[in-house]
Amino acid sequence: MVVVMKKGANPDQINAVNQRLLAAGFNVHLSEGVNRTILGAVGDRQRLEPCSLEAMPGVENVVSIMKPFKMASREFKADNTIIQVGKAKFGDGSVPVIAGPCAVEGREQFLETAVAVMERGAELLRGGAFKPRTSPYSFQGLGEEGLKIMAEAREITGLPFVTEVMDQKSVAMVAEYADIIQVGARNMQNFYLLKEVGKTNKPILLKRGLSATIEEWLMATEYILDSGNSQVILCERGIRTFETYTRNTLDLSAVPVVKQLSHLPVIVDPSHGTGKRELIAPMSLAAVACGCDGLIIEVHTNPAEAWSDGPQSLTPDDFGTLMEQMRMVIKAVHGDKFGDLAV
Ligand code: PEP
Ligand code: MN
Repeated sequence: MVVVMKKGANPDQINAVNQRLLAAGFNVHLSEGVNRTILGAVGDRQRLEPCSLEAMPGVENVVSIMKPFKMASREFKADNTIIQVGKAKFGDGSVPVIAGPCAVEGREQFLETAVAVMERGAELLRGGAFKPRTSPYSFQGLGEEGLKIMAEAREITGLPFVTEVMDQKSVAMVAEYADIIQVGARNMQNFYLLKEVGKTNKPILLKRGLSATIEEWLMATEYILDSGNSQVILCERGIRTFETYTRNTLDLSAVPVVKQLSHLPVIVDPSHGTGKRELIAPMSLAAVACGCDGLIIEVHTNPAEAWSDGPQSLTPDDFGTLMEQMRMVIKAVHGDKFGDLAV
């Protein structure tokens, strides 16, 4: 529920409401607006005396959140959540781009790609050290060595990095190195993992599950928020449909839908979303046009030789061309609001 305080409610009144909610076992999120304070509270309403909050001094009204997801909903928090990582801001209307190879294959490969995408305007790096592969015989990632290589790339380029964690036992280690922790599509409903990453203080990139509805995706988000981590970036990465021409069906309508339902930023992954290099540029431009808060794109210096996902990776030069095209779409959609920092 959301408790809206009266305009001019004093700190003692706000504190009294907060204490009443905490005593009844609620999780409380306080947001102080210019005119009034709002307390978002998640818990069991049965544990509060009916109407007891409405009667408290300074309370204007109490609104129930009807959606099954609470803390992720716009009713809980009307303003966009803005998540800043390095210089990039997710959720303020700009479109930071995360780029890098599917997997860290070695030091030279990763550093070369990192510098190439940095020079072309990427604001964050991506790379997998723990890879969720369909076959146990495929390359599984370099593990901690991969994390160290990405940390070195961060030193050299000044760009923060995103990397995936696959299991609970690796969360502490990944959190030690990464700037953003990714929970991949296959783990979107691994609730114990969600709770574990929810205990870290790093932003979480939560990918949409292969066949998850938007509601299931937002319910998964709720596990992270409820565990105490309010920094969740959602990522649409395509879903399974009857269509086999593309690897997945990139559901771009999820972007405006999630932005209506939730205050959290939503980014798009056109690489996994399509599985095809030639579709990355058109879908990236469309994602920008429909209001995404960022993109995550696979880039490899030699896609033909990539150990994973070469067919859906851009070369650095193609990535550079796409960045130029995106600048034009951003200008068309947002005007000059973000100047050169837009992409
Ligand atoms: C990835 O980003 O490397 C990845 C495996 O993505 P997804 O979980 O969306 O398949
Ligand atoms: Mn990949």
